[in-house]
Amino acid sequence: MVKSIFNNVLGPVMIGPSSSHTAASVRIGRLVRSLLNEEPLHVRVRFAPSGSLASTYRGQGSAMGLAAGLLGLEMTDRRVADSEKTAIERGLTIEYTIAGPEADHPNTYFIESKGVSGKEISLTALSTGGGVIRLVSLNGREVTDDTEYVNMVMPFPVRSSVSLPFTNHHEAYKLLSGGGASVSALAENYELAACNVDIEKIKGAALDVYRVMTESEHRGRSGTSYSDRILPGQSHLIEEGLRDARVPDAGLINDIIVSVTSVMECKSSMGVIVAAPTAGSCGVLAGTLAAIVRRFDYSSVMVEEGMMAAGLTGLMIDMGAGFAGEEGGCQYECGSASAMTAAALASLSGGSSEIIMAAASMALQNMLGLICDPVADRVEVPCLGKNISASLNAVASANMALGGFRQVIPFPEVIDAMLEVATSLDRRYRCTCLGGLSVTPAAKQIEKKLQFPGD
Ligand code: SF4
Repeated sequence: MVKSIFNNVLGPVMIGPSSSHTAASVRIGRLVRSLLNEEPLHVRVRFAPSGSLASTYRGQGSAMGLAAGLLGLEMTDRRVADSEKTAIERGLTIEYTIAGPEADHPNTYFIESKGVSGKEISLTALSTGGGVIRLVSLNGREVTDDTEYVNMVMPFPVRSSVSLPFTNHHEAYKLLSGGGASVSALAENYELAACNVDIEKIKGAALDVYRVMTESEHRGRSGTSYSDRILPGQSHLIEEGLRDARVPDAGLINDIIVSVTSVMECKSSMGVIVAAPTAGSCGVLAGTLAAIVRRFDYSSVMVEEGMMAAGLTGLMIDMGAGFAGEEGGCQYECGSASAMTAAALASLSGGSSEIIMAAASMALQNMLGLICDPVADRVEVPCLGKNISASLNAVASANMALGGFRQVIPFPEVIDAMLEVATSLDRRYRCTCLGGLSVTPAAKQIEKKLQFPGD
């Protein structure tokens, strides 16, 4: 299926802890419901033992998302949080088993479903990162082009046969080099070719996404609460520390820490966020832009161009590597978000295409090798700290590029290097909660306290 900036990179707009778990499973659930074309009654889900979902499907919200999708809920609906309970109340049974055979992809859903009239369908679907799904087989038959099916649950329907301005990250980079296309214009041209939409819809979507980001930040700042969470609200602590001089006045750095934390706290309290590119990394672009646009008062045209620069940068990463922590660790999530944010910041400051690409390159270079090791299967620790580090790295990288520092390694080659690192990253460090901070004694204590009933 053709990739799109608003399907794959700047979205989905969602609630829940994880785009590759919660958002993708809402979509898979909605797809099952659409294909049945009636109320689902009984659903059996199998996860392969060595995949990521076997150990994370509850903590990271796959079970919640799947129930919500089967019930026909949108992924921004507050009722998603209670969807498993609602499913039971409505007589919809969803059974999970962890059993062989193994699957090629760590996020594979094997689903058998029956509707109220007895109609049955079975499918195999993948969550490929950032809420994107792929339909691999339907009723035992391989699906070679899943566009028609996946379009049923994506916000920007894509064309199945298209002529795109570029088909990989190296081609995109060539078009931007030597005074070629502007980054935002190339992003818009790509999206026009990939989707059945007009230019006004694309420009509007960029500003809509930015508006949702600032609303998430605002909601997080106003204070949040949610029982199933590790961290209390902390976004107010920096400002309190500044007031009584415990925290030094580091200006924009403190603003960014507060904004990124606010967005992450909005996510952790089941508020609406934009997964850009993923829910785990949702604080980076949203928090940094909220703090910077507020400080420098950029126009909406500049914000729209900055968003499209972030979108194109993310699209290049998605074409060359990916966004799923289960595939490539946190370099795929916070690393990608950092590169996208660096590109947006360089664009906001009027940088050329070369400067924007250099900002993205330097930001991503600094994030290679970052592992995914969430504590107690919640996307909070060390995710918050990684989001803040990725944001400050983006600011530094954008300023280095704008100042004329040399990138040395061109952006597409950094993406290739990230893929190479991902393929050698042990499974323990790819969102399985089997290594790193996830297995420390302190993490295990927290895990015990937060255990789901029946686990
Ligand atoms: S460590 Fe990174 S990749 Fe893993 S869950 Fe947290 S934000 Fe996502």
